Amino acid sequence: MEETIQRAAEIISKSKHLIALTGAGISVESGIPDFRSSGGLWEKYDPMVYAHIDSFRRSPEMVWEMIFEMVGMTKQAKPNTAHSALAELEKMGLLKAIITQNIDNLHQEAGSRNVIEYHGNAHVLQCLRCNAEYSIDEYPDDGTIPKCRSCNEILKPGVVFFGEIIPEDALMESQMLAGSSDAILVVGTSAVVYPASNIPYMAKQNRAAVIEMNLEHTGLTGSITDVFIEGSAGITLPKLVEQVKALIG
Ligand code: NAD
Repeated sequence: MEETIQRAAEIISKSKHLIALTGAGISVESGIPDFRSSGGLWEKYDPMVYAHIDSFRRSPEMVWEMIFEMVGMTKQAKPNTAHSALAELEKMGLLKAIITQNIDNLHQEAGSRNVIEYHGNAHVLQCLRCNAEYSIDEYPDDGTIPKCRSCNEILKPGVVFFGEIIPEDALMESQMLAGSSDAILVVGTSAVVYPASNIPYMAKQNRAAVIEMNLEHTGLTGSITDVFIEGSAGITLPKLVEQVKALIG
């Protein structure tokens, strides 16, 4: 691992436009399960059913059962050392932006400023009928399904469900960032959920170096990844940042 961290640190210390793409894996050490964690939320609720827009339209009450558990978890969770390491890289002027597939707000809580929420944020509520938006904190945390104050429709969390399109501004901004990057850190994502999974390929087309950090290999590893750092991000990312600091002095 030390050798791969050293190689990645060299790339990062010389980069002019480093970006990061993060996935559920970076928040596992904060107690939020990814789609693979056993015994977690997603064993109880099949994401292809409970996180699909058709299910929400058909039976919002059923989907809210899962949302209450998910939001409860994200509200309790605190950023871990991997989130903090990325915030530090941004403060050092090296990391230009994070594109996150996560909806848990933990990058912002760790102090990262330029965060593109590719799949939205679970702490925002939207009305599918009249487009009104609310903060989840405006509603009591007592298990009552929140309804729109203007039209009484059941509200939907501001996350992108399966079957929904990515918000246009997030899509455009991510394309622009990937197209101008010279290095990309891909952390804790299985890179199978499209179109987020395409971002590392767009960066690579721009000749960016791809540094992947994961517990296991993904479809990117044998194809476009230049440096694969194996291990949990809460350990490997802080080590990487220390190494970058040592190089840039
Ligand atoms: P995924 O669940 O498909 O894959 C997670 C990846 O992270 C896996 O490759 C796994 O090996 C790796 N991983 C797990 N723990 C790790 C650790 N400690 N350090 C490094 N890597 C680790 O997640 P995905 O690719 O993000 O796609 C799933 C979708 O589900 C995303 O769209 C995301 O929006 C959503 N989701 C979000 C959250 C969240 O907001 N925290 C949680 C679950 C799912």
